[in-house]
Amino acid sequence: MTITIEKQTDVYSRPNARFDQGGTLEIRASAVGNCRRALWYEATGHQVTNPRSDDSITMLEAGNALEPVVLRAMQRAGWDITATDRDNPQMVSLRLGPTLVVSGHVDAAGVAPIFGNEPSIVEVKTRGPEAYKKWRTLGAERSHPESVWQAAFYTYGAFDQARDLVIATLDTGNRVWDYEVIPAHRVERAFEQACARLGELAAHHLVNGPDPDVLPERDFAAEDWQCKPCPFLNACLPGSAAVSEEAENEPAGDTEPVSDDDARAALAEYEQAQEMLKAIEEDKAWALGMLRTWLGQRGEQKARLEGREKTRTVGMVKNTRYNVDHKRLNSMLDPEARAEIVTENVSHYLRVS
Ligand code: SF4
Repeated sequence: MTITIEKQTDVYSRPNARFDQGGTLEIRASAVGNCRRALWYEATGHQVTNPRSDDSITMLEAGNALEPVVLRAMQRAGWDITATDRDNPQMVSLRLGPTLVVSGHVDAAGVAPIFGNEPSIVEVKTRGPEAYKKWRTLGAERSHPESVWQAAFYTYGAFDQARDLVIATLDTGNRVWDYEVIPAHRVERAFEQACARLGELAAHHLVNGPDPDVLPERDFAAEDWQCKPCPFLNACLPGSAAVSEEAENEPAGDTEPVSDDDARAALAEYEQAQEMLKAIEEDKAWALGMLRTWLGQRGEQKARLEGREKTRTVGMVKNTRYNVDHKRLNSMLDPEARAEIVTENVSHYLRVS
């Protein structure tokens, strides 16, 4: 493994995968978790069949623009941050064998407040509220392993060894941020996982050369979320985009068709019910406040009082909540141990906002 660090102006718009003039396959560090077949399509010059929509480009650019905001927030919180000059970033490049290089741009290096003593790679991510919650609860290795692989490459590229790394994440909906430290021994493991993953692509390259018609296996299936925004979806899984669009537009099961007018009437009912509920909740909160004051003035924890239909007990109830420090939990336990403790329970509901 050899490491080079060079200045480069070809900044953040490079392809995820390409062959250099010497025939080496160069993968962007931010794409190490991407589908290997999609990387091969890109490197071998296949035509993009499903270009990004304007909305998804806007989302991507908004995420990039917010990264310096997170770094400034870390500085205000006492971190010693050395941010990459975004107009002239340093490219970290890691050669993993005769035909494979991983390269990318570090977001920042940072030293934690008070107890930090050596700089760590800081990888900044922006997530919507649900993904942010998932990250904090499960930890990055479980929720977004590709972000840990990416930062592990930067760590080895910058320091030539495993070191604690920091994933700093902004919740773009609620505009709050937090960070997670991945200890060095787990950075080493993430690096090995990512190398093994890319090693299979390097082996494909060694056996077949840069042949655009000999494709690596698919890493995902049509129903996986990774395929839906894939720029080569129609080349890889012809017809599946149209099928999934049709499926989304199909009315569910045997239910009667619902017209737009029916839906508008249902929404009006919902809004009216919400207003009534709000008024009821306000009345209830006022009444409970009055009863709490009455009980407190009597100096009692519990008392009986005549209601409209029966005598009721009015009493203070002690309710203990337990908070989990996910940051400490995530840094102390391996992802496998956490998976036995923090389990997922997925439910579906309709939200009207
Ligand atoms: S459509 Fe899915 S399987 Fe095919 S290249 Fe894209 S991500 Fe990979």
